[in-house]
Amino acid sequence: MKSSQATSPPGGNRVGILGAGQLGRMMGLAGIPLGLEFTFLDPSPDACAGAVGNLIQANFSDEDAFRRLAGRVDVATFDFENVPESSAWALQEIRPVYPSPQALGACQDRLHEKTLLSALEIRVPGYYPVASRTDLLTGLDKCAYPAILKTRRLGYDGKGQVIIRDQEDLERAWQKLGDFELILEEFVPFEQECSLIGARGIDGETRFWRMSRNRHVDGILMLSLAGGVDDGLQAAAEDMMCRLFDHFDYVGVLTLEFFVVDGQLLVNEIAPRVHNSGHWTIDGAQTSQFENHLRAITGMPLGSTVASCEALMFNWIGELPERDRLLAIPGVHWHDYGKSARPGRKIGHLTLTAGSATELADNARLVAEAAGGSFPALLNSMI
Ligand code: AMP
Repeated sequence: MKSSQATSPPGGNRVGILGAGQLGRMMGLAGIPLGLEFTFLDPSPDACAGAVGNLIQANFSDEDAFRRLAGRVDVATFDFENVPESSAWALQEIRPVYPSPQALGACQDRLHEKTLLSALEIRVPGYYPVASRTDLLTGLDKCAYPAILKTRRLGYDGKGQVIIRDQEDLERAWQKLGDFELILEEFVPFEQECSLIGARGIDGETRFWRMSRNRHVDGILMLSLAGGVDDGLQAAAEDMMCRLFDHFDYVGVLTLEFFVVDGQLLVNEIAPRVHNSGHWTIDGAQTSQFENHLRAITGMPLGSTVASCEALMFNWIGELPERDRLLAIPGVHWHDYGKSARPGRKIGHLTLTAGSATELADNARLVAEAAGGSFPALLNSMI
């Protein structure tokens, strides 16, 4: 698919990445075979992407460090959407930044994001800006209980949000979040959550992977099953993403997270980057989200996004399960991010691949049983 807009390719093989977490690391692992070299910028001296490139240790607000990074790379991108928009603009003055700082900025504020989606006639849950307690009460009058109060900025993986089911919750939520700029959202009684990941090249070419169905616990992604989403929903989701691609003259990988309600899609969030629900593409698609992101931002042709097999991803949060027991199960692909274990931290994942849905389900039960915790029940709710 081609869109009318086109941007010129940056040239060169040196890529700068703002943020050196696991997404940056997986970009590095995908980009080295393409002949790319990586320099990361991250506040942490032991950020895990440092293993696959050079690391500049600096804060995301350190515009001088951004200029140093610019001197060492031909093009820049990010693995983390909370890089200050002003730093991305400062970098853009020297080197191309993809996706654009404008796209980055629009996705950093939940209110701006929802306003933009509504303007593009893309459906979102009902929402109300909250700048005072009075706004919160007015919003609750309109959307009723339960509702979700979220910080407009810096929230991810369920952080910075509280469900309000009654008056007591309301007081607690206000005490916890009242000092921030907020947004109140209707609580969506969704049938399922799913996401679409797509890529747009510098020449305007677009590609989409099959959507995945996702299961979260406490706001953190635990399982992503590629495929199984109705063709009509896939087409509707791609149409929404194309509107965003055109709006931003977007370059790189973009993710849309959805709720499915009454068989229709509502957008929960836009992520202007590669996404956890697309990790299955490393082992289960002809070209991974990481490789296509790099191909897009360096002006290479995009690769096929066709699935090469059935795929299901398990996220390892806080600790890794016993690796060798899992490696004994057919179709297991192990991904250890080289991060230290800490509660709530994403430290690795496993993608299970199989030639058929039945084989995938059988082996997935073995993986879930070996991994324990909430996995067996989550898996049962999915396959
Ligand atoms: P977020 O950080 O906004 O992506 O939210 C994390 C998770 O919280 C989502 O994946 C949903 O499971 C849940 N959630 C967020 N917003 C809503 C909503 N408006 N209604 C129902 N569940 C929600």
